[in-house]
Amino acid sequence: MPADRSTPLDRLIGARSGKKFADQLGITTAGDLLDHFPRRYLARGELTPIRELPLDEDVTLVAQVVSASNRRMATRKGSITEVLVGDRPGEAQGPSTLSLTFFNGYQAAKQLTRGVIAMFSGKVGLYRGKLQLTNPIYELLDPDEFDAEAAARLAGRPIPVYPATASIPSWTIAKAVGTVLGQLGPDSLPEALPADLRLKYRLPGVHDAYRMIHEPEDDGAWRSAQRRFRYEEALVLQTALARRKAQHAALPSRPSPARRGGLLEAFDRQLPFELTRGQREVGEVLARELAENHPMNRLLQGEVGSGKTVVALRAMLQVADDGGQAALLAPTEVLAAQHYASIRATLGPLLRDGLLGASGDEGVEVALLTGSQSAGEKKRNLLAAASGQAGIVVGTHALLSEHVQFADLGLVVVDEQHRFGVEQRDALRAKSLATPHLLVMTATPIPRTVAMTVFGDLETSVLRELPAGRSPIATHTVGLVENPAWERRIWQRAREEVDAGRQVYVVCPTIGAGGGDEGDLDALDDATWGGTALAASPVAPDIQPASVAEVAEQLCGEPALEGVRIGALHGRLDTEAKASAMRAFAAGETGILVATTVIEVGVDVPNATLMVILDADRFGIAQLHQLRGRVGRGGHAGTCLLVTRLEPGHPSRERLSAVAASTDGFELAQKDLEFRREGDILGASQSGRRSTLRLLRVLRDGEVIENAREDALAVVAEDPDLDRHSELAAAIEDYLGPEREVFLERG
Ligand code: ADP
Ligand code: MG
Repeated sequence: MPADRSTPLDRLIGARSGKKFADQLGITTAGDLLDHFPRRYLARGELTPIRELPLDEDVTLVAQVVSASNRRMATRKGSITEVLVGDRPGEAQGPSTLSLTFFNGYQAAKQLTRGVIAMFSGKVGLYRGKLQLTNPIYELLDPDEFDAEAAARLAGRPIPVYPATASIPSWTIAKAVGTVLGQLGPDSLPEALPADLRLKYRLPGVHDAYRMIHEPEDDGAWRSAQRRFRYEEALVLQTALARRKAQHAALPSRPSPARRGGLLEAFDRQLPFELTRGQREVGEVLARELAENHPMNRLLQGEVGSGKTVVALRAMLQVADDGGQAALLAPTEVLAAQHYASIRATLGPLLRDGLLGASGDEGVEVALLTGSQSAGEKKRNLLAAASGQAGIVVGTHALLSEHVQFADLGLVVVDEQHRFGVEQRDALRAKSLATPHLLVMTATPIPRTVAMTVFGDLETSVLRELPAGRSPIATHTVGLVENPAWERRIWQRAREEVDAGRQVYVVCPTIGAGGGDEGDLDALDDATWGGTALAASPVAPDIQPASVAEVAEQLCGEPALEGVRIGALHGRLDTEAKASAMRAFAAGETGILVATTVIEVGVDVPNATLMVILDADRFGIAQLHQLRGRVGRGGHAGTCLLVTRLEPGHPSRERLSAVAASTDGFELAQKDLEFRREGDILGASQSGRRSTLRLLRVLRDGEVIENAREDALAVVAEDPDLDRHSELAAAIEDYLGPEREVFLERG
């Protein structure tokens, strides 16, 4: 029986090999193996024989190991592996050898044993009069391919290099793939691409494409195959999103048309400032969509300080005007409390207080629900939500618990989306009969094609301008290695701010004093594509990152700061301690607040003008950008110092330079993408090989993604349930799997 995608791999390559593939690569079926694409291709053509190796140049050669030895270094700790290689068999010329030296090359010592054939790349050097390569990179090759006959057959063909493991080298994978390809039946692979689209982009069919990607005749072949799979991946993803969007848009929701002479109009009249053009435009879009009887599903992006809250509040008031309720979810208690306070303040006379009863007809009651409230408070607020008395309910995750009921939930606003997962979103939606309108807000600018891929089922709005009167933040990198004296200068500078009546944030990567990393509490940033994934990896393992506990103590003893009150804030503090640290800082009682990234999102102390970020190299670009948005909010110019103890020229310092050089969040987001491995974008919070994009790269493949999106929308418009695209539908099921489904649900 011919094989197809679902054929168990061990049936095709034997039980022992099959088990190895399953255990080490997670590959269990023929389809899994076919989808295990080469990571790159080596050109056979351009190889240099050993005797022609040029000195001081980068070379690539195929050679066979003649002998290998290992010894300890005399003067230092560690070992040296010396490998002697000779021209591969089949080369006409007589013996010529080259020596390779690996320092601490444990893997090389294990893999490069006598007889092994490999491709080596490195720079040719001279040591004691003999040519050698030091720490060359290498790829093991299949010895069988290098007998004269095989060599002739394969001459000129690119060599596929697979993601491999120590005991399954690339060429073993190539052989297994060859076996699978040889046993596939003629129509055994479903063709997910509709014929017209394949034609439109001149893409090879599925059978050809698998052959071309695994056993290419030339470079053109694998390139063309990659083009196909890239487009296929984009189309599958975009069709899934388009279908979800269409399904969601078809649900009934509670229409809340704007009411003349209502709360919203009264609110607009009393606003102490003019809305920016962007705020007005987005406002109009929201007003229109809230009036419809299908749910709004919108992502609002806007720089820190661009005024998203007012936009959201106006939408909430439109719903309240109509007798409905709106819920605002914030990622932390600090933020929820702050939103609650600032919404109440902004409402002014339009605020109705449940305790005192209505002070007039025109007004809205605002309730706050957080996990740490006293039983009595909780009960009162729960009642306000359940009875419908509260038109606006602000809260954290506590809002999602089963006990919270709403009388008539019409709108859900989620602030800083990346901190909420799908379950929470669904839980909130489940709290009303009709699907509530959804507004997701984020200050992390998202490049267009990322938004399209990650949040493809949301419509997007952007607030590009900041309200007038904002001064730009001056950002500087402070390298302590080259300028140790600057450390003192930083604290003098902080002193000057405090003396001028301003306030200072000092941000540290860790909590310290046994607190460990911010971890699961506030810095859930690993779950964001713009977050701290970078911080987790030890950039300089010998440097202990600055901690809140130690820095706070150090600053208390710092002569330049004598008499300045210093507060500390981090996620391990209990709610009351957090709130009081925040309160003291907001009230100006503490001049300096030493904190972790808890202050990253939304916290608003207009009087803060200086931010000192210690070991700034531990943070990602997007996060640094968000952090510095906390200063200079009150009309006084803001300054941000990115302090680092890394050597000048250290790669991680490039990120700091990027942040110092630009204040454009979108430009930085793009940079951020370029710096990080793309695979992290979609699957940052998951692990496992199926959670990330396969060939598609959101940065590089913007055009493919845009094309696919257009095509997908057309497909779904014409065939909403994909009845006439069953193989595409099956590809979606297959591609998404349980893990990828999660990221589709984010947002
Ligand atoms: P973010 O988008 O970061 O959530 P906020 O909504 O917190 O920004 O707004 C930041 C500050 O700017 C708030 O104090 C808010 O009152 C103020 N603000 C918002 N819109 C305007 C505007 N059009 N003109 C002046 N100030 C504004
Ligand atoms: Mg905000």
